[in-house]
Amino acid sequence: VPPRDRFCNRSVQEVLQAVFGFPGFRSLQAQAVECAMQGQDALVLMPTGGGKSVCYQIPALCRPGMGLVISPLIALMDDQVAGLRQLGVNAAALHSELDENESAQIRSDLANGRVDLLYISPERLLSSGTLDRLTRIPLSIIAIDEAHCISAWGHEFRPEYRALTALPRHFPNVPRLALTATADERTRDDILAALDMPHAQVLVSSFHRPNLNIAVQPKGSELKQLLVALERYREDASIVYCGSRARTERIAASLRERGWPALAYHAGLSPVEKRAALLRFRSGEPLVIVATVAFGMGIDRPDVRAVVHLDMPSSPEAYYQQIGRAGRDGLPSDTVLLYGGEDIARARYWLDQSAAPDNEKRIMRSRLEAMIAFTETTGCRTQALLHCFGEELEQPCGHCDNCRHPVLTFDGTEAARKLLSAVYRTGESFGALHVIAVLRAKQTDGISRNGHDKLSVWGIGQDRSESFWRGVVRQLIARGALRIEGQYGGLRLNPDIARPILRGEENVALRADPVVEHTGNVG
Ligand code: ADP
Ligand code: ZN
Repeated sequence: VPPRDRFCNRSVQEVLQAVFGFPGFRSLQAQAVECAMQGQDALVLMPTGGGKSVCYQIPALCRPGMGLVISPLIALMDDQVAGLRQLGVNAAALHSELDENESAQIRSDLANGRVDLLYISPERLLSSGTLDRLTRIPLSIIAIDEAHCISAWGHEFRPEYRALTALPRHFPNVPRLALTATADERTRDDILAALDMPHAQVLVSSFHRPNLNIAVQPKGSELKQLLVALERYREDASIVYCGSRARTERIAASLRERGWPALAYHAGLSPVEKRAALLRFRSGEPLVIVATVAFGMGIDRPDVRAVVHLDMPSSPEAYYQQIGRAGRDGLPSDTVLLYGGEDIARARYWLDQSAAPDNEKRIMRSRLEAMIAFTETTGCRTQALLHCFGEELEQPCGHCDNCRHPVLTFDGTEAARKLLSAVYRTGESFGALHVIAVLRAKQTDGISRNGHDKLSVWGIGQDRSESFWRGVVRQLIARGALRIEGQYGGLRLNPDIARPILRGEENVALRADPVVEHTGNVG
C-alpha cells in the first residue's frame, strides 16, 4: 500500500475528526463528500467561508489514489499546503514559483506514492511532462477550485481554465468536484458544460451569512466614513477595497499617517512585496489591507472584522465574494459600501465604451444595474442581495443598515425638477458641482464666464445644502434620469426618464440620506 492510501481504511467521519479536528460536517459537506466517495461528479456552490475545501480533502484522503486539486493562485495553494502539512497530511503544490530542487523533490515523492494531495495550476497541469507523469498515478479525485474561472460569463474569467475541458479525456473515471462561490445560474451551466459533467449533482448551499452586517452609504467624506467603519476594530484585521492602484496607495498612506497599521495591495506589487503583505495579513496581527480586487481569492484569514468598499464593485457577485471575506470565523462582522453618483455614471460610461462583444456587454450591464439597484434599495439589504442570487430570505435580516434604521423617504419631485432644469438650462455639459453651484447661487469663474448667473434657475436651490443636492444628483443618476458624458463628466438628461419628471407627470420619492459632510476626500 503506498503511503498516500493510509487513510483508506478509515471512515470519512473519523478522518474529519482525527485529521481536521472538526466534530461534524457542515451543511452540504456531507453530501459532497458522499458523492465523491461513490465516484460521482458534483458541482458545489457555497459562499466564501462555507467550507468548500473539506468537500474534496476528505475524499482525496479516504479514496485510494492521490487527490489532485486545480487552483488558480499560487498564494492560495501555498496556504492550503501549509495548513494541511500542519495536520499531518502530505500535501504539495506544483507551480511556476518553485525552484528546481523543490520540483525535483515533489517529482520523487509523487513517484514513491508519498503525496496525499497535489495542488496544481491549470497551465502546469496540462504541460506535457506533468500530464504524462500524472496519468501514471492513480487519482482519488480531481477538484476544480474556483471553478467559475472557467466561464467567460463569470466575473473572474481565466483563459487558462478553458484548457480544463481536456480533463475527462486524460483522466477518465476519476470523479470530479467543481467548487465555486459564484452562484449565478449562467456561470453554473457554463461550468457543467465546460467540464463535461452533465450528470453531476449540483449542490447549492444557502448564501446567507447571518453574521455579516451589511451597510451601504452615499459617499460624503470618504476618509471620515472609513475611519468610523474601522474604529471598532483597531486590534483586528480589515480589508478596504478601492477601484484603482493609485487610490490604494493614497488611502493606505492616509491611514498610516493616522496611526493605523495599513498596507496597500494591488497587481502592480512585485511578487516579493505581495508575499510579504500576505504573510503579514496571515500572521494574525492587527492590519488594514487597502487593496484592489487583486486581493481576492484565497484570502483565508478567519477573523477579518470589516470589509469596506470605497468604490462600487461592478456586480453583486463580485461584491458578495469580497464582503464574504469578512467573518469567516462566524463572528459578527461589518461590511460598508460607499457609493456616489459619479461612480455609477462612470461605470456605465466605461461599459458603453468597452470593446467587449455585445452579448457580454449585455450581461455586464445587467449585473451593473443590479448592483446599482442594490445600493439604492430601501428594504433589507440581505434580502436584496440574496435575491440577486435567486435566494429568497423570508424575513428581513434585522441587522443591516436599512433594517436597523428604516430609510426615510420624502417627496423629492420639486427638488428633482429644479435640478433637471438646471442641467438643461446650463446646456447639459457641466458637472454636478457646477450645476449645484448655480442652484445655490455660488458665484465661480466658470459661472460668470458662461453667464449662468443670469439664468432663471440661478439660486432656486439656495435653501438646501450642497450635500442635499449631491444626493439628488446621485439618485437621479441611479434612476437613469441623468447620465454623465464625456471626459469632463458633464451631466446630461436622459429624455425618456427626465421629461415626465420635468413635466410634473411623475413624482419622485427620494431617500433622505444621513450624508456625511463633503470635506476632506483623499481619493
Ligand atoms: P471556502 O473555501 O468555502 O471559502 P474553507 O474551506 O476555507 O472555505 O473553510 C472556511 C472555514 O471554515 C475554515 O476556517 C475551516 O477551518 C472552517 N470549517 C470548514 N469545515 C468545517 C467543519 N465541518 N466544521 C468546523 N469548521 C469548518
Ligand atoms: Zn436587513
